[in-house]
Amino acid sequence: MFDLPLPVEHECLACYLYRVAEDVPCEGSLRMLKQYRDHAAPRATALERKIKMLGGYCDCEVLMNAMRPATTEAIRALDQGTDLICKGVRRGCIQPCEQWLIRRGVQWAGGQFRSRGAKSS
Ligand SMILES: [Zn+2]
Ligand SMILES: [Zn+2]
Repeated sequence: MFDLPLPVEHECLACYLYRVAEDVPCEGSLRMLKQYRDHAAPRATALERKIKMLGGYCDCEVLMNAMRPATTEAIRALDQGTDLICKGVRRGCIQPCEQWLIRRGVQWAGGQFRSRGAKSS
């Protein structure tokens, strides 16, 4: 068991997962995501359900399936395994910062979540 670091002020979910995954191996669970949620966005109770709809069934899959790098800086960091500086998000917000894009076809804005063709089970 590794202790998970806490998200830093204004750090976004994707940058947090990226940073922590450098040091902590994925356990096939969403415990890093939950750690982020519990500390940075405790009201985002549907986060796990949303992220699974995007193909994120464990912490490493969130970055692989649900998010993709949006900036050359982020692409280079992923490519080379170097640190990525988070652009920052509002506290309580589960959207990634400008460094990342959420996979297309899913709308997260304003707390609303819609996914075309996704089963509601
Ligand atoms: Zn994993
Ligand atoms: Zn970020």
